Parts: sequence; C-alpha cells; structure tokens
Amino acid sequence: METDVAIIGAGPIGLELAAAIKKRGIAYLHFDARQIGQTIASFPAQTRFFSSNDRIAIAGVPLQTPDQGKCSREEYLAYLRCVMEQFDLAVRTFEPVVGIEPASGSGFLLTTAPWRGRRQYRCRRLVLATGGTANPRRLGIPGEDLPHVSHQLGEIHDYFRRRVLVVGGKNSAIEAALRLHRAGARVSLSYRRESLDARSVKYWLLPEINALLETGAISGHFGTRVTQITPEHAVLHSAAAPPATIAADAVLLLIGYVADMSLCRLAGVELVGPNEKPVFNEQTMETNIPGVYLAGTVTGGTQEKYSVFIENGHIHTERIVAALAGAAPPKGPVAAPAAEI
Ligand code: NAP
Repeated sequence: METDVAIIGAGPIGLELAAAIKKRGIAYLHFDARQIGQTIASFPAQTRFFSSNDRIAIAGVPLQTPDQGKCSREEYLAYLRCVMEQFDLAVRTFEPVVGIEPASGSGFLLTTAPWRGRRQYRCRRLVLATGGTANPRRLGIPGEDLPHVSHQLGEIHDYFRRRVLVVGGKNSAIEAALRLHRAGARVSLSYRRESLDARSVKYWLLPEINALLETGAISGHFGTRVTQITPEHAVLHSAAAPPATIAADAVLLLIGYVADMSLCRLAGVELVGPNEKPVFNEQTMETNIPGVYLAGTVTGGTQEKYSVFIENGHIHTERIVAALAGAAPPKGPVAAPAAEI
C-alpha cells in the first residue's frame, strides 16, 4: 500500500497531527504499536493530569471536566476516543512498525508486524510521534525483577495495609507516596538526595508530603540508594551510615523513564549524547533525514529534567503541516514554556 505521509504513534500529538493532515487533504496512514493514548492508559486509575485542560486539548476540540478540575486519565482517554470519532480518524492500532528503509526511487518502505503477519507500506514522508516515556528507568540492582517490585504504580488497592517502599524524589514518587498513604498503605520513601527539591515537586503535593514525613506517617530515608531487593526487604546505602535494611511487601521504583528511540534510529535520525536527543529543525520539525519529521515528546529523547510535554507539543503539529504543505513555518515560540501548568 502507498501513501503520502505515514504517522507513527497515536498519542495526543500524533492524533492532533492526523486531524490537521486530514483537514489539509493530505493522504496519510497512521500506525501505533498498541491502542491510541497508550501512555496515558498506563497511568494508574484516576490519575489527574498536572497540565490544565486547555493545554492538553487537541485539534481545537474543547476539553471540559464535570468539576472544572484537571482531567483524569479516564476522562482524557474518553476525550481522545471522541476526537477520533469526531474527525473520523483511522489508526492502525496494534500494528507496530518494525522496519524503516529507504524505498527504491524515493520515500520510505515501512514494515509492520501485527500479530496476523508482516505487512509493507510505502510512504513519501514520515512523522515519528513515538513519545518519550516508553520504558521505566531501571536501577540495575539484584532483586529488581522480583514479583513484588514494580516500576509503575498500577492498582492502588493492591497496596492496602502493606509495607511499600517508594523509591524516587520527584512527582511520580511523591504523588504515589501520597496516594498510597491515603489508601491505607504503610509507606516509606527512599530518595538519593538529602531533601526534596521544591522546584521539582508540584507545589500542591509538597505541603502534604512534608507534613507526613515530619510526623513519620511516611518514613523518609533521604540520602539513600537502594542497592539490593530481597523477597523480604530492601538494602539502603548512604554515605553517612552503615547499610540498613527496610522491610517491604512491595517496592515501587518510580525513578523516571527512558525513551524508546529505536524507530528514530531505524530511520537514520541523528541522536546526540547518552539521552539520545534527536537532531531536527525547530521551524519545520524535519530531521537530518529529508522527509522524516518529529512530533511531541520524542523530540526530547530521554528527558532527565522534563521540558517537553503534551502542552508544548501542539506547535509541532502546526510546523509539520506547514512543512508538508510547502508553506512557511507558522509564527510561534521556538522554545515553548517548559512547565506543566
Ligand atoms: P523524573 O522527573 O525523571 O524523576 C525521577 C526521580 O527518580 C528523581 O527524583 C531522580 O532523582 C530519581 N532517580 C533517577 N534515576 C535514579 C537512580 N538511578 N537511582 C535513584 N534515583 C533515581 O520522573 P517522574 O517523577 O516519573 O516524572 C516524569 C514526568 O511525569 C514529569 O514531567 C512529571 O511532572 C510527570 N508526572 C505527571 C503526573 C501527573 O500528571 N499526574 C504524575 C507524575 C509525574 P534526582 O531527583 O536526584 O534526579
């Protein structure tokens, strides 16, 4: 099958781009290895976005919530389904792209691997909207793969009345510690630094976590690193004291994410440094490979300090549509604000 543009990745920015490309009358095919909005679907139930609704709304479709509060995972997934329906967007879901090669003549030959068997497609231009948080960061320590160790919060009910060690010191770890505490888990927190950094934890989470740490309702182990996990406990090392063990029925390693840049690599996109930040033109979003564009959080590679979110990815879709249509880049900030507001 042949098309003009292939989009890989059906998160919010990939969907917004598809709606804009369709509106322009450009022929395209859209692929995702899983379902639309897969990253959001992997959030724990009832997680609320940090970004306000207007900033994560896509394709000009208003996003309202019943209580005017920030959108939950469930509300946002329903919203994405509605946007799909409204613009009659077609995504080839559960069809992972596994091969990207130059096609004879020009363009690209894509190979996909849905479970029923491999398929091939030819496209003239390619947009990678593959996200930046595909895999959890790992500690690489003994015991990390034990069944009671997880890199995602998952079902909060599972932790009721259990001793949970949360590892990490930014938003995921602090939000999880608070939700688990409120849900009746006995929470301990191990963080490698001496204290939480108020610039790295949302201001509405800080007073509660600080109060709970102060009273000992959540026991804080600051300046510690987990070096081993056994079925019964975790071993914490610190510079100041001999190694300590802490009993844990469950261990949650909430230490950030690593982007999966494998499709960028397959396409020949230049990736810089250990965090594999891709090289692209900020005005057009085109990479060092002519005809290959990037949209959304994939542009940040693996982010140590988060600066690319859904909310500052919208401009990418405008730039790409202009580039695909041969129009001048839209006016807009080259460096969008780096905060979830
Ligand atoms: P993050 O911001 O990358 O924080 C990772 C944490 O793990 C940091 O505290 C880091 O320590 C620690 N860490 C990293 N590598 C480590 C290692 N090898 N050993 C020990 N500790 C290590 O990741 P995140 O908290 O998952 O947040 C990711 C993004 O999701 C952020 O943009 C965040 O705001 C967002 N988020 C949104 C929501 C929501 O919308 N409800 C909820 C949670 C998170 P250092 O502090 O020393 O670097």
